[in-house]
Amino acid sequence: MDKAEILKQLPVNVVVREVDGEKKYFCPTCDRETIFGQTTCKFCKQTLSFDKIKEEEVKSAGYETIATLSFSVANDFTPGDCRKCPISFIAKDPTGNIYTCPLNPEKKGCPLKLTKKK
Ligand SMILES: [Zn+2]
Repeated sequence: MDKAEILKQLPVNVVVREVDGEKKYFCPTCDRETIFGQTTCKFCKQTLSFDKIKEEEVKSAGYETIATLSFSVANDFTPGDCRKCPISFIAKDPTGNIYTCPLNPEKKGCPLKLTKKK
């Protein structure tokens, strides 16, 4: 892997621009448009981050919007155990196949909270 490819694996914040009165997100590496929440630029494979945008949004609005979803897991499941989690999926990585999760547990830890129900 060359240096440019390694650098693309480090997340960088997307560029926000207003186009025709609408907020649009752009990859800082190749300057092509991306959609909110997309973790990799589909054109140049740059790893993208939306953290800073989220922080600014929370600051200006004064609140954060949280989504909650309930689903059943194995009784021996522990948060972060992606192999046993129904929302993780197997993705191709330069190092082989890896478990991937849309909740980005590798960044801030698995956000799942467990409750027991009879
Ligand atoms: Zn790009």
